[in-house]
Amino acid sequence: MLGDTTGDVDGDSDTSERNDTQTPAGELADTIRTTLGPNGLDKMVVGENGTVIVSNDGSSIVEWMDITHPVGRLVERAAAAQDSAVGDGTTTAVVLVGALLDEAATLRSDGLHPTTIVDGYVKAAEAALDQFGQYERGLDCRHDDRLTQIAKTAVTGRWDDVSTDRFAELTLNALEAVEFDTSKLTLRSYHGGELRESACLDGVVVDLKSSSTALEALHPRAETDDEPAVAMVDGEIGIEESDRVQSVEVRDTTQRSALQDYERERKTDLVEQVVQSGATVIICQKSIDEAVRTALAQRGVLPVERTRRDEFDVIARATGSTPVMSVDELTEDDTGTVESVTRRTVGTTQTLVLQGCPEEQRRTVLLRGGTPHVAEEVRRIVTDCIDVIRGTLDGGTFVPGGGAVPAALAMELAALSSGIPDRTQLVFDGFGTALESLPRTLASNAGTDPLDTLTAIRQRHDAGSETVGVGPDGNPRDMIVAGVLEPSMVFKSALQRAVAVVTQILRVDDIVRTSAGERGADGEHDHAHTATGGYPWAVGH
Ligand code: ADP
Ligand code: MG
Repeated sequence: MLGDTTGDVDGDSDTSERNDTQTPAGELADTIRTTLGPNGLDKMVVGENGTVIVSNDGSSIVEWMDITHPVGRLVERAAAAQDSAVGDGTTTAVVLVGALLDEAATLRSDGLHPTTIVDGYVKAAEAALDQFGQYERGLDCRHDDRLTQIAKTAVTGRWDDVSTDRFAELTLNALEAVEFDTSKLTLRSYHGGELRESACLDGVVVDLKSSSTALEALHPRAETDDEPAVAMVDGEIGIEESDRVQSVEVRDTTQRSALQDYERERKTDLVEQVVQSGATVIICQKSIDEAVRTALAQRGVLPVERTRRDEFDVIARATGSTPVMSVDELTEDDTGTVESVTRRTVGTTQTLVLQGCPEEQRRTVLLRGGTPHVAEEVRRIVTDCIDVIRGTLDGGTFVPGGGAVPAALAMELAALSSGIPDRTQLVFDGFGTALESLPRTLASNAGTDPLDTLTAIRQRHDAGSETVGVGPDGNPRDMIVAGVLEPSMVFKSALQRAVAVVTQILRVDDIVRTSAGERGADGEHDHAHTATGGYPWAVGH
């Protein structure tokens, strides 16, 4: 049995009710299975120091779990790869891994050799992917309404229904505004504030650091001007090192005041040069001398210092201003412009909003969340949604969701398997059953009977409605009508990754069993216990 060779993961976990064929990967799948789909429940991950994280996202949960078992780590890596490559489908991948391993355990207890199972799985996966194409549909254009449905399916279950719809729309609108060029889209998440205050702004948002607080009382012209002029300086603004007298011995007050006069004059000069250039906003990549800052503000110029390199470049492109190394080089021609410049407090952060950039269409999505954790989770959701939309456009195809495709593929495999003369037939059937674990899990998470739902779906497919899957209420529904659509690559890539990791695990098990025998199993036990005592979370269902 598989359990013998991979070892139990944790003495503390409640594994007593599970059969002893449970593998660490199977346990992992069991843990996150209940989060699958629109009715999936959240998981609470409790850290060693008592930190509590609540999430519905398969990849985040797997990432946060402190997995020490090597087999668990393989699954964790596959989930992380799915998340970074596709942005969705991680729970699907892990559930498939669990189901494929369960079926493999049954096949092994029926006397099949792991190599036969591995070969059979690879063939079945190829056959399934061959059939996959017939369920794919193409998008008509970039503004296809179905893209909205795909975006919504991608974020379903991650937050409450109202918010997920809002995030899907917000993301899609932002992407449409920049013509799906993500390099023109910036995501900023700020804690403090409510989710519904999240918005998409036309322009660039810059965090204001120390400079803003000191200038609170002053009202630079930039904020009232019709066409604020933006100047950009790469180097420090102040008395540069080269200007400074390296070592002076100030012997009397005359000398001291001469030095002070020089510095004062230099600073006045700097301010004058900025004012001469007509700039009403000066954005500096390094620091601006405090006295210069104040003087600039008094003359109606808004100074912004220590702007991040990437933001600095973005502002330069968007406003059309030419960054100069020092204020001495600054001329009127170097300044760029925007429609408006406003200072805005977002949560606890002071920001500068440069709206309406003439040179480049840019959008900034401002995401808000009550706590840093919420703000971060929202950011993850929107990032995943962007990935999914981009991926859909790249691939150009989508499939019905809700387990309709795996259910259909399982039926295809069943039809194929009857023509296979050897034991591979059994492996094909097992693979089909594993695929069906997806609609079954969706049904059971929605509270309907998995077997009844699956039988009903099979009947509908037989009758020609191959787009029927598990609806949001757990009952069979036509997924195209229900608008539950997914980009092709989410399921395709989840399936490929699941098969890759399962065959790897099955092969490794085989090596452990034949070459290391008893010692291998014991060794792993020891490792799990000395490292962190196994999985440090309570597995509950
Ligand atoms: P994953 O991490 O695999 O993306 P999810 O929890 O997002 O896991 O669940 C994805 C599954 O839920 C997919 O099979 C998808 O088709 C299905 N799904 C998403 N939204 C709906 C919906 N509104 N109705 C039915 N099924 C849905
Ligand atoms: Mg998902």
